[in-house]
Amino acid sequence: MTFATLGLIEPLTRALDTLGYKEPTPVQAQAIPAVLAGRDLMAAAQTGTGKTAGFALPLLQLLAMEGPKVAANSLRALILVPTRELAEQVHESVRQYAEHLPLSTYAVYGGVSINPQMMKLRRGVDLLVATPGRLLDLFRQNAIKFNQLQTLVLDEADRMLDLGFQEELGNIYRALPKKRQTLLFSATFSDAIRLLAGQTLNNPLSIEVSPRNVAASTVKQWVVTVDKKRKSELFVHLLRKNKWKQVLVFAKTRNGVDQLVEKLQGLGVSADGIHGDRPQATRQRALDSFKQGEVQILVATDVAARGLDIEDLPLVVNLDLPIVAEDYVHRIGRTGRAGSTGEAISLVCADEVNLLSAIETLTRQTLKRQDEAGFEPDHRVPETDASGNVVKKPKKPKKPKESGGGKRNLGRWVDSGEKPEDVAPPVKPVRKVPAFNTGPRKRKP
Ligand code: AMP
Repeated sequence: MTFATLGLIEPLTRALDTLGYKEPTPVQAQAIPAVLAGRDLMAAAQTGTGKTAGFALPLLQLLAMEGPKVAANSLRALILVPTRELAEQVHESVRQYAEHLPLSTYAVYGGVSINPQMMKLRRGVDLLVATPGRLLDLFRQNAIKFNQLQTLVLDEADRMLDLGFQEELGNIYRALPKKRQTLLFSATFSDAIRLLAGQTLNNPLSIEVSPRNVAASTVKQWVVTVDKKRKSELFVHLLRKNKWKQVLVFAKTRNGVDQLVEKLQGLGVSADGIHGDRPQATRQRALDSFKQGEVQILVATDVAARGLDIEDLPLVVNLDLPIVAEDYVHRIGRTGRAGSTGEAISLVCADEVNLLSAIETLTRQTLKRQDEAGFEPDHRVPETDASGNVVKKPKKPKKPKESGGGKRNLGRWVDSGEKPEDVAPPVKPVRKVPAFNTGPRKRKP
């Protein structure tokens, strides 16, 4: 199968030739003809499957082939994404795919000055990539009009809900024309996503390219158990022992990121960190240096997980497990992309056993344990399995360090005064989803 047989026009296939895309991935093979035919989509596709091209290519073709010229301050297609990094990345892909088409594209997100964005939008753009908060700001300041909008894409919809964008999404929907095409992409399909889909999609085609909630099988995953206080020491040990070249490390908190970066830099290892406290420009610079191989270790909170696309990233290390199990799938989706193989190692301490169990249940696998000599934990991590069981109770340490003892709250195992960054509370709330326009939508013949 080729991209041309899916119905894509020559200017797009030419751009794909330049990018070295030889044949469509499964999600592309299913999504491209459906979007070209004007269908709504509900696609369960994890990152690394080629989903961006799956929606962007047919969308660009529809924009190029039909519809009016874009008016001032207007847009014809909108791609909503959860984070700034993803906005940049999706826009970069769109720009490459649209290289030979006479279309204007742009990305807007918060954390940077709004004025240049307002200026740029004056002439209108055919396709806009946006994070929900900044889009609403621009709309409220009359910098954006939606009356020409024909297609809406919700990319990583699960993440948008995790980050608490329900209200913004509701406000955006209410401002959009009812007659439109809507494409919803999500790595995971919770009840909240299904509810959202039911309210926003019109007779959608469902696409599922890999078993739901299962991490890419091209990623070799395992766990090393260790005491919490020895995690960074273990990381340095593994780094040296295995001579790792390029590693993306996930830590739960901003402090956790900063501390590991400092430790590594102190040891002469080139490392940088990205988290929400750092200005956008600094984050982008760190990402770029990492992508170009100038920085060997990039330490990030989950905020980075969605936007990072590095070809053939060999290794992801979870210094801490994510509080929301779905984030594990997103984190390790940074490696083993588009057919290459990768490794994902999680350093797990006793406090994290329930998080580990939730991840194993979600991904339907029991993660192999491979402990490191010299780092065997004093606080044993109980055995877990994919059915959600914590098989044996942990032995109670004789002298617990934390005062109070007893049952621990998973949400509070971080050092006091620190909060995990950009994650939902441990139990994902299905917050009230605003009522969207659910009436029948007329479709163009
Ligand atoms: P995505 O899942 O959209 O984040 O894409 C993952 C990676 O796969 C990106 O680096 C894309 O450039 C790449 N990619 C997407 N489609 C193809 C394809 N058909 N052939 C080769 N690489 C692709």
